[in-house]
Amino acid sequence: MSAFSPPKRYPVPGRPGLFSSYQWHPGMNDDVILRVSKSSLGDFGFCQQQSFIKRVLGIKSEETEAMIRGSNVHDSIERFYQDVSVSYAASMKSYGLENVEKYFMEFVGEGDPKRGPYELDEEQHLTKYMKLEAERFMNCADPHFFLPIGNEVSLDAVVTIEGQLVHLTGIVDRLFADAEGIPHVHELKTGMWKDHKPSKWSNMREEMAYYVMLLKECDHEVLGGLECERWGWDHTGGYASKEGEEPDAVWRGVEDVRQKDMDSMMDKLRLLVRTYNQYKGDLDGRAFALIDFWRAQEVICEPWCDLKGYCPRYEKILWPYPQEG
Ligand code: SF4
Repeated sequence: MSAFSPPKRYPVPGRPGLFSSYQWHPGMNDDVILRVSKSSLGDFGFCQQQSFIKRVLGIKSEETEAMIRGSNVHDSIERFYQDVSVSYAASMKSYGLENVEKYFMEFVGEGDPKRGPYELDEEQHLTKYMKLEAERFMNCADPHFFLPIGNEVSLDAVVTIEGQLVHLTGIVDRLFADAEGIPHVHELKTGMWKDHKPSKWSNMREEMAYYVMLLKECDHEVLGGLECERWGWDHTGGYASKEGEEPDAVWRGVEDVRQKDMDSMMDKLRLLVRTYNQYKGDLDGRAFALIDFWRAQEVICEPWCDLKGYCPRYEKILWPYPQEG
């Protein structure tokens, strides 16, 4: 893990002289506002204290194999949509699925141009993905609707939440539109989908809700103000419908935007802003709650959290006041 990082601030695109920071607190200059991304909001929803350690104190976890695999697969799929020739694929369509599949498989390379050869089963993830996309292509009445209208698009919005200016930022993996022009935002994950876990559904839906809000509020010259009506996500690690089942094909789900999840995402965002409003800009993270549900320590903290050394539940090194327990 790295040592503490000094406060970082990032220019807010399209707002000259305005910056945003994950280390924001009410005592900062007016030209710096709170920065929120889909993952910082997700971290906060998972464990507020962990998000304080990561985002505010700047302690980073080591890069894991899952992260490297995720970056390689994401980058490869982004290149696929940039480079694929829909006209050529359409000419293959009359020769059958195998030929479209064969063409799409040409985009599965053996490595990443920047990170080097694949060593973490990236080809398996990409092969499964290309097979699924070849099937989707065969089912597209007009092949031009196969391509996304947005491919890894960076979006930014400045909104007021709880009376505070907040910079929302994010990169949408893909945005599609059907023949009627109905927009649909779609996310890619390389992990395994656990269909039987309600928390997986609610977390994914809240992630998608963040993008739906971002698209509506952003300043993007083409996509700004877009009202998404559907969302969906892929898991190239496959899926299991019950505990212990081996994952196989890519899991793909699409559904209408759900107001219930838009509301719960907004509740989380408001709580995040209220929490930061209590933060004084020092090492005191007591405004950020510890993860706390039945057996949380046993099933989350002990086996999974690699930031225990910075958490008041364990070594407590950063807490200058009486400890819990
Ligand atoms: S040890 Fe538990 S409570 Fe502490 S930061 Fe990690 S997940 Fe959160």
